Amino acid sequence: MKKSLKLIDIFNVLENYYGPRNWWPVTPSGKNYPEYTGGPENDGQRFEVAVGAVLTQNTSWKNAARAIENLNRSNNLNPEAIANLEDMELGQIIRSSGYYNMKAGKLKVLADYFLKKIEISRESLLQLYGIGPETADSILLYAYDRPCFVIDAYTRRIFGRIGIIDADETYESIREYFETNLPFDIRVFKEYHALIVEHAKSFCRKTPHCRDCPLHYICDFK
Ligand code: SF4
Repeated sequence: MKKSLKLIDIFNVLENYYGPRNWWPVTPSGKNYPEYTGGPENDGQRFEVAVGAVLTQNTSWKNAARAIENLNRSNNLNPEAIANLEDMELGQIIRSSGYYNMKAGKLKVLADYFLKKIEISRESLLQLYGIGPETADSILLYAYDRPCFVIDAYTRRIFGRIGIIDADETYESIREYFETNLPFDIRVFKEYHALIVEHAKSFCRKTPHCRDCPLHYICDFK
């Protein structure tokens, strides 16, 4: 890892450029479609974050959000309702998210976990079918304000190109690097991951648009 660059400096550049992202989107009271209002405020919205983290696996947030909208419209966005739905019926409701039969099975397991009301932890989430480190850390950070930095393909792409991480580093080693080299500030953890996603979509795409990139001056890639 390139230790000379401070992660917080990169965060500040991205935040100044894009502004606050207000993740994770949740459905406001009386509405059906999730909005960027600054994150969950009650247990129902915390469960919605967990559902969204599963639904957005291997697909865009837009497709996942449409599935959440369908769950809201059919009054099924709660653990009891999901646990009681037939797998095929649940699959049809969340069809827009892709891999919907598999995701229906994952949501049933997740609903069961929430219904047991056990203490939420990284260890217990990682034991669930369909919950890998990225999904677990998304749930812990955005639903429960736990200091878990979310690593995804965009993080690897951007910070690999900048020259901070190597291609073969593990999820856990990158997560630990971010968590130990950033100020202990949940707001920063939340915004940073959201800003990484924005930057990967705006400039650091598969084919990067380096010329006007706000990180151009510190990036090895160009
Ligand atoms: S300069 Fe290019 S490669 Fe580097 S972060 Fe910006 S877009 Fe990505």
